[in-house]
Amino acid sequence: MVTIQRNDLQTLFDALERRGYRIISPTVRDEAIILDTVHSADDLPKGRGEEQSAARYRLNRREDDALFGYAVGPHAWKQFLYPPVQTLLQARREGTSRSSGEPGFALLNPEGADEEPAMAFVGVRPCDLAAIRRLDAVFLQGPFQEPGYARRRSRALVVVAQCTAPSGTCFCASMNTGPSAPDGFDIALTEVLSTGPTVYLAESGSERGAEILRDVTCRPSTSEEISAAARAIESAAGRMGRHVDLDGLSETLRRSIEHVRWQQTAQRCLSCANCTMVCPTCFCSTVEDTTDLTATIAERRRRWDSCFTLDYSYIHGGSVRPSGMSRYRQWIMHKMSTWVDQYGTYGCTGCGRCITWCPVGIDITQEVAAVQHPSIESVTPPRENVHG
Ligand code: SF4
Ligand code: SF4
Repeated sequence: MVTIQRNDLQTLFDALERRGYRIISPTVRDEAIILDTVHSADDLPKGRGEEQSAARYRLNRREDDALFGYAVGPHAWKQFLYPPVQTLLQARREGTSRSSGEPGFALLNPEGADEEPAMAFVGVRPCDLAAIRRLDAVFLQGPFQEPGYARRRSRALVVVAQCTAPSGTCFCASMNTGPSAPDGFDIALTEVLSTGPTVYLAESGSERGAEILRDVTCRPSTSEEISAAARAIESAAGRMGRHVDLDGLSETLRRSIEHVRWQQTAQRCLSCANCTMVCPTCFCSTVEDTTDLTATIAERRRRWDSCFTLDYSYIHGGSVRPSGMSRYRQWIMHKMSTWVDQYGTYGCTGCGRCITWCPVGIDITQEVAAVQHPSIESVTPPRENVHG
């Protein structure tokens, strides 16, 4: 374990840029903490925290200079590994087919041919690292690999920021995906604010990470710093605004297909798909073909879709999930039950985004609790407005 002084954190960014990485990290835009390309430690959300609760997100100012003093914003890392819109192939009308005499075409820019720099994800929360690993199982570990995801993921470097600032909608501790990540990263940082000037405890989790850390200005961590980091993470685990009881959850949901709660929730749900767009593990997509106005260029594009749209489950003549109830139930059942059958883990990592960004404040933790404990009329209101 080594310690990087706040003023030396830039040497980590410099080391990454020297190696050609496109650095992506949390940064402030439009009064939210989003993920974007940065060049400097000063681009991080210095001294910013947040308030999150059901259907509510507000940035605020902290009383310190923390760079990782918030949980997660509306963006998830999946957008960089699995872009929202991706051209799979492009064809241009060109010449004449020798066999048929019809207009011919040339294939351009098939997916996979694009040159893109390797990405370094800096400030990945443990719940979000767990989400990336969920996507790895989907895109890399089945009988077929998603080639674009595989290419980007194999080159991506992950710098975790262990979580010391959970929000009111977080529940990763109960999903066993945080607030600290034991492995799966290249470098892990823990921000320590309590031992004097802000420092970052750093450890490597891969050869790549170790090689980069050798290039960063740092010193061995003191035992006081290591204890303070452990205390900060332990405190975070106890300050999460929400909780899910995993005991028998997958089986309980499977037995509750006809539960009255689905219908009740569907009366509030707008089928807007926000929850699936912000969710770091949702990966549904559709494919569409387009042509330009002159009918010269045709494209096949893949774009994110959602189990909340009617078209997504349209099969020869109609949708197999025509009601809002069936679509909402499908979403939760996949996250909390059938994902376990498919991949051996839950599809939810407890990041809380779907609760914060649902416009009507539907809360996945309350929904599963209502199904698990039908005798409870109204589920205990969660703690709100936990500050980062
Ligand atoms: S279901 Fe909600 S809490 Fe769970 S990972 Fe997705 S967005 Fe986060
Ligand atoms: S649960 Fe909320 S965010 Fe999701 S589709 Fe329904 S209204 Fe939209």
